[in-house]
Amino acid sequence: MCPICLKKAESSLHALWRCASLKAVRIVCDFVFGHASLESTPFLDFMQPCGSHVGVNEFEFLCILWWRVWHRRSLVVHYHSLVLVLKVMEWAVSFLKEFRSASMVKVGNGKDGRDGDRVANHPWQPPPACFFKINTDAAVNGKGKGSGIGVVIRDCDGKVMASLCRNILANYEPQIAEALAILEGCRLAINHNLMPSVLEFDALVVVRVICKR
Ligand SMILES: [Zn+2]
Repeated sequence: MCPICLKKAESSLHALWRCASLKAVRIVCDFVFGHASLESTPFLDFMQPCGSHVGVNEFEFLCILWWRVWHRRSLVVHYHSLVLVLKVMEWAVSFLKEFRSASMVKVGNGKDGRDGDRVANHPWQPPPACFFKINTDAAVNGKGKGSGIGVVIRDCDGKVMASLCRNILANYEPQIAEALAILEGCRLAINHNLMPSVLEFDALVVVRVICKR
């Protein structure tokens, strides 16, 4: 039995779309087709055609909404707490807005050694044929709780050939952490015989230091 409306058997489609408590969601998402006669359809059979019939933006919104609707249902089941549907929709709108602006934000301002002109969603470009590409990055905990480095090496088809991520307990400056990531990337390429390789990273300061030598 649906723990929210207490009227219908709870299927995934009912919980995520058909429940009487989600009427406002269905009204807002009136771009979704044919929901009137789908009481017993498995949710996947309902959702998959949506993906091809609505636009990408609408489908993104739907997925986030369904995620949060399920969260709302879980709160009822586990904590007997019912969140208003309006709040669920507000959360989904705000989450999507934040996600989209974060995906487009320019990272770095030059002060931490990162290239302020790099855009976070800049698409990865493959290396020339017969080359490998080493991508490295580093993150520094602002509260002095260590650093982390990551390396991915791909071939010219984009296939991942080797990768690593590592926590570093020491508190390095961002540029030093970036340089360590590059060093580990080169080591990984050599150890796996992934040569010749090209390097790609976003630490402008490190590039300048290397180019001066
Ligand atoms: Zn219900």
